[in-house]
Amino acid sequence: MSKPFQAIRGMNDILPSESALWQGLEATVREVLAAYDYHEIRLPIVERTELFARSIGEVTDIVEKEMYTFADRNDESLSLRPEGTAGCVRACIEHGLLHHQTQRLWYAGPMFRYEKPQKGRYRQFHQVGVEAYGMAGPDIDAELICLTARLWRRLGIREVTLQLNSLGSSAARAAYRERLVAYFETRRTELDEDSQRRLHTNPLRILDTRNPAMRGVVAEAPVLLDHLDTESQIHFAELRALLDSAGITYEINPRLVRGLDYYCKTVFEWVTDTLGAQGTICAGGRYDGLIEQLSGPAVPGIGFAMGLERLVAMLVAAGYSGADPNPHAYLIMVGDAAQRQGLVLAEQLREQLPLRLRMNCGGGGFKAQFRRADYSGARFALILGEDEIKAGTVAIKPLRETQGEQVTLSQDQVAAHLRMALNSTPSVLERDARG
Ligand code: ATP
Ligand code: MG
Repeated sequence: MSKPFQAIRGMNDILPSESALWQGLEATVREVLAAYDYHEIRLPIVERTELFARSIGEVTDIVEKEMYTFADRNDESLSLRPEGTAGCVRACIEHGLLHHQTQRLWYAGPMFRYEKPQKGRYRQFHQVGVEAYGMAGPDIDAELICLTARLWRRLGIREVTLQLNSLGSSAARAAYRERLVAYFETRRTELDEDSQRRLHTNPLRILDTRNPAMRGVVAEAPVLLDHLDTESQIHFAELRALLDSAGITYEINPRLVRGLDYYCKTVFEWVTDTLGAQGTICAGGRYDGLIEQLSGPAVPGIGFAMGLERLVAMLVAAGYSGADPNPHAYLIMVGDAAQRQGLVLAEQLREQLPLRLRMNCGGGGFKAQFRRADYSGARFALILGEDEIKAGTVAIKPLRETQGEQVTLSQDQVAAHLRMALNSTPSVLERDARG
């Protein structure tokens, strides 16, 4: 016998016992996004490799070593998306969404990166991404940050801090880059192998290093914030003023450079130390040149993405059980006639009530079915046995409530009875309908 199959390393199943929590998270995210009038865009999971190389940057970790790239049947190089911004920009250019209008968009779904799997870092993970196009001022930067802050509040997530930095214009960044390379040249022996390799390809990325041995050399490096162009300085000061007036606290982190090439001006991350090493739950920034660089109109953009696995982990740590709700009722049917009538009755009840009704399948005697009903966690067993069929009735037996007797009603009274019984035990139906 061969071994049973297992999922690909770093690609997780989300089981029914977990999916209720995911659905709750996703519903809250949707609600908050709607409150700011952001609209969903649904994008393909596969794009041309060239799109990612040109937007994310040839010498970034993602493009150099993390993409799942394959040749299509016609030999074209395609990749599973490692992030969503590139595809979103591509789609907006392709469909002319950026001409003379602003866009506030979001998307959700799986992303793929060939990374070393560990807690909080997977090869298939899920992001909600948010992008805003056509707005150059710091007001939209502030709006996006307020949106994320509202989301944490709605989710009851408290232990997060906002880190903020400005990368300046691309010209300021280029000048700073030379300064930085010159500095690192003087301390070359202190750089690890990765950083030596990056020195002339992506030196800003060295500032992002997680290698504790390089803390000193990075701490003494010149700071980009000290070398910003005037426009970026003003933009940053205005953003800070807006955040201050909105009561949003932040830390300026001059080492925050983000891994991707396309960012300019504002970059930010929400980080927590409750998750161990993988503490960034949300990250983003402004990318004013990207759309034009991808042959679109000269339209500015800003966006962020949040990692849902890390948010779920935070919610679990905060005590959300995420247990699937139990059925309201379990339908027990004994005998062929009961089975036929039961199917019809179940369909009618679902028509009449927002009911989670589990129908016994696979037959079995009364005892066996009753055990299943109890095990299902249902509040009521609806019983159709031979006697009930003869009399045209249904027996309703409370399974959880201490008070309340079994009653026998005619079939057309069942819906009204359940509605009352479920609503009188603190509004189960209504609460469930709201999710
Ligand atoms: P990190 O610094 O953790 O590698 P990143 O800068 O690569 O993150 P982004 O590309 O900005 O991350 O993605 C935004 C968010 O997506 C991250 O903040 C994180 O929450 C989540 N994320 C990124 N990569 C992974 C992954 N491999 N597994 C799970 N979540 C991830
Ligand atoms: Mg990464």
